Amino acid sequence: MPLLDNKVAIVTGASRGIGKDTALALAEAGAKTACLARNEELVKQTAEEARKKGGEALAYKVDVSKSQELEAVVEDIYGRLGRIDILVNNAGITRDNLIIRMTEEEWDQVMDTNLKGAFFGIKIVSRYMIKQRSGKIINIASVAGVVGNKGQSNYAASKAGLIGLTKSVAKELAPRGIQVNAIAPGFITTDMTSKLKEETKETLLPQIPLGRFGLPQEVARAVLFLASPDSDYITGHVLHVDGGLAM
Ligand code: NAP
Repeated sequence: MPLLDNKVAIVTGASRGIGKDTALALAEAGAKTACLARNEELVKQTAEEARKKGGEALAYKVDVSKSQELEAVVEDIYGRLGRIDILVNNAGITRDNLIIRMTEEEWDQVMDTNLKGAFFGIKIVSRYMIKQRSGKIINIASVAGVVGNKGQSNYAASKAGLIGLTKSVAKELAPRGIQVNAIAPGFITTDMTSKLKEETKETLLPQIPLGRFGLPQEVARAVLFLASPDSDYITGHVLHVDGGLAM
């Protein structure tokens, strides 16, 4: 029997990058997968590819920073698929700037998507998981939230906040049979890191003990582990998938 047979998974930010590969990996493992993002065309494409990998897959255009939109989508998913077992809070953005130049708008946009979006996701979905007395929540944080990063004070603060959110909610929901964990990826080759200048990449590479950037599939495999029964005794953990960058 596939690892996630009869499980229902929600992945935010599933239109590309880590979220897309995560949705495909969960679908391949047998989960019915709901793919969420703002770009309708791309997220429909992910769901289409997920259906080819496994069973049912749904696509939703939603902005995770809008709680009412997200709540309506989650209700629809529950209505159509009958349960919710896995939530992957992956949607994230960067608006990099040095602290002295950072605008309030850049700060708020990053917080609203990366931290408030995850808060909304957990608050809405945990209601269903509490009734089921089981569930897995996986928050995609970042190495920046662990060790900080120049020019990313808003992003690093949002990801450090996400780690605090993960640990607090893990303690609250453990008695309800729900595990809550985070993944802290290092530098992964996606649209997000394609914005980095070549010279920045050249400075970064020697700092990564494994000597290369990671692939989105390598993060997806870590999500799969934390979403599966193989990780039932793990909660409140931050799993580094970073080639050794933050050890
Ligand atoms: P990406 O390629 O830029 O993808 C980001 C995803 O988030 C897209 O699917 C985007 O879809 C979605 N998204 C952004 N804002 C959203 C919103 N308000 N509502 C719904 N969806 C939204 O980035 P990635 O590299 O795959 O990053 C995925 C996650 O991993 C992020 O949380 C990021 O912070 C984290 N991470 C990435 C790296 C890295 O090196 N790549 C390292 C550490 C952590 P739409 O634009 O269609 O909405």
